[in-house]
Amino acid sequence: MTAPDGPILLEPRYDSKIWGGRRLETVLQKSLPGRGRFGESLESAADSRLVSGPWRGKMLLELVTTYPHEVLGSLGYRASGTFHDLPLLAKFIDATDDLSVQVHPDDDAAETMDRRGKTEAWYVISADPDSRLITGLVPGVTVDDVRRAISETRLGDLLIERPVHAGDTLLIPAGTAHAIGKGVLLYEIQQASDVTYRMYDWGRVDEHGNPRDLHIDASLSVLKPELDARLITPLERYPGREVLAASRYFALERWRVPNLGATVDLPVGSFLLLSTVDGSVSLDGSGEALRLGTGQTALVPATLESLRVTGEGIVLASYVPDLMQDIILPLRRQGHADAAISALDGALDDIQALFDAR
Ligand SMILES: [Zn+2]
Repeated sequence: MTAPDGPILLEPRYDSKIWGGRRLETVLQKSLPGRGRFGESLESAADSRLVSGPWRGKMLLELVTTYPHEVLGSLGYRASGTFHDLPLLAKFIDATDDLSVQVHPDDDAAETMDRRGKTEAWYVISADPDSRLITGLVPGVTVDDVRRAISETRLGDLLIERPVHAGDTLLIPAGTAHAIGKGVLLYEIQQASDVTYRMYDWGRVDEHGNPRDLHIDASLSVLKPELDARLITPLERYPGREVLAASRYFALERWRVPNLGATVDLPVGSFLLLSTVDGSVSLDGSGEALRLGTGQTALVPATLESLRVTGEGIVLASYVPDLMQDIILPLRRQGHADAAISALDGALDDIQALFDAR
């Protein structure tokens, strides 16, 4: 089979979770594979099936390993590294209860396990009134403070709670203590990694009186108490196209269709993951147009230089950026100040480091 030359629709994998709900269906118009509560849909997992084009029926990983350069692009290929996979994972998460407080290792800590670190970003699609996210630890708290507070079931006193609203974006660096609160439906883009340490579960027990498994020592060994998940102020690249977050790992953009114009120039060195979170759009690479309805995700191979996007809706676009070419220069041309641009990576230092290096 030949290398793909257009966007490909992905079939998600659904995970049923006790803390999940039905909003993947009621808000994002997905067909859930059963009754009950669903917490996550993994939109670009290795075993996600391709459901359009000549590769229809194959798994995402098969496409990536057959045509790594064409699909991933130079930056995507580098990020894929020794894992030979799609280096970004997009998810939708529906929380109808407070999730446990978690922490992920960074690349250095994960490397010792031959895994990838996990920095992620959240885009809030909908949030009940009074919804909250846990975005880190109050300033000055040490790892020892955290250990003691966990053992005394009062870690809540040391956590930062932030109210959230639809349309908010936060960037969560690996090592940050974080949790999704009840009532939040969000899109998550993350480094493709499944290393999660559950640090604290609010003292909850199941119907048999047993607490959930926690990974306290592991989580404390990768915790960076000084980091926090920051609310990012979006910057407009041009009307209809905003950068919501950007780091060395991924950039996240919001496209308002049709305001951004029919033809979108794509990053040179990366694939894109496009997810429609409202409305319905049509994606046209070179061949047949692909309809991307609410809640659907498509992979755009790196070989495409531009894409026709028509219809009406809001699309989230994630990719592996060249921070200078894809983020800094276009935003400077639009008149944005360097301080605003460097805030796109939240508590990370990726963009400022590039400014300092000049
Ligand atoms: Zn996480």
